[in-house]
Amino acid sequence: MPPEKHDSPTVLISRRGADRVRSGHAWVYRSDVVEAGEVPSGALVTVREVPAKDSFRKSKSEGVQQAEPSDMNVQAARPPRILGYAFYSTASEIAIRMVSAKPVENLEQFVRQRIRNAVAYRERFVQNTNAYRVIFSEGDFLPGLIVDRYNDILSIQVLTQAMDTDSMRNVFLSELQSDLKPVAVVEHVEPRLRRLEQLLDKQTGLISGIRARTEFQMNGVRFQLDALVGQKTGAFLDQRENYAAAAQYARGEALDVFCYQGGFGLHLARTCAKVCGVDSSRPALEMAEQNAALNGREIEWIEANAFDLLRDYSDSGKKYDCIVLDPPAFAKSRHDLPKAWRGYKELNLRALKMLRPGGILVTCSCSYHVGASDLLEVIFSAAQDSHRIIRILENRGQAKDHPTVLGIPETAYLKCLILAVS
Ligand code: SAH
Repeated sequence: MPPEKHDSPTVLISRRGADRVRSGHAWVYRSDVVEAGEVPSGALVTVREVPAKDSFRKSKSEGVQQAEPSDMNVQAARPPRILGYAFYSTASEIAIRMVSAKPVENLEQFVRQRIRNAVAYRERFVQNTNAYRVIFSEGDFLPGLIVDRYNDILSIQVLTQAMDTDSMRNVFLSELQSDLKPVAVVEHVEPRLRRLEQLLDKQTGLISGIRARTEFQMNGVRFQLDALVGQKTGAFLDQRENYAAAAQYARGEALDVFCYQGGFGLHLARTCAKVCGVDSSRPALEMAEQNAALNGREIEWIEANAFDLLRDYSDSGKKYDCIVLDPPAFAKSRHDLPKAWRGYKELNLRALKMLRPGGILVTCSCSYHVGASDLLEVIFSAAQDSHRIIRILENRGQAKDHPTVLGIPETAYLKCLILAVS
């Protein structure tokens, strides 16, 4: 990658966009881009705020940066103020993702250093696992790049034009290779996201090494992974610390609803007498069963629609001492909120009806659009309908390898409440 020169193309953004950047956010929407000229897709750009009309006299067509000094107004002589440096997308509604307040002298060295910083952050804060998110996009100031480590395998996801250029891919892959020495790297592709960013179609597959299967552990629980199949880049690493927390409180008979490959259930099996996991995906349950065997646990796995099963079980008076609810994101956008509310209400109401007095409810939402207070509100409403009283044991979020950056609310999406139900 050639060293980046200072004269990266300029993108002018509105006052509203500039205020967002000043408030610490990394994104500027296309509606706040005032002028971008012929900026190539994925380019590193200099982001400037469009001057207020009365302090800047030249018309746009004459070129914003060549304003002549004016005796009348010294302000007008200055080029628009630089807000920082960003990756530009010609396709996404998120046109600009800020990466630095200071000029980027050499993009390759800049990206390598960010990766080393992300690796060092995990070395410092992540414990009891050889599986964790190494790079969390904006959370590690590398927008558009997600990298998960599962023991000796890396699973990556590339989400933006800037991260998908050949030169950028060479840089981050060689840095990851030298920092983490994986035996293989798998690229996980979500075709819908690539299309939105107008990236060439691709398929999930190995991009280096020869095997995508491995075994990893978290909190001393063993898991198998085939990085070429399954959801996300592999497992749900963001719940790792919540698994351990839930197991601390759980006793007796436990039901893990939306269990996927057994993340919660396998942890609960350490403290509970009996565990049952429910999911609608047969391949996920097959992997869950293999994981149970690997850990020498007997867990019952049921393939079912969770809504139907909870209705049947609660109507027939089945009882548990601990129930985990970890459904998929019900609200992909704000428009889905009423539907999401009904979904969470139904699940939590059924679970509350089935918990014995003193039972533990572990209830999660990974919908960014459902805020922590929204989730508490739904659960309170379910508690009132079922005449249960709830005390909060823990109000948790995502694991520390998915860092939340203050000022970028979208970096916080997972909620996990551990509740004592009387
Ligand atoms: N708790 C899991 C992650 C759950 S992800 C873990 O920690 O690993 C959501 C899961 O819900 C997926 O495995 C998906 O197959 C399952 N799912 C989605 N809709 C469902 C439904 N209606 N009934 C049962 N399972 C469902």
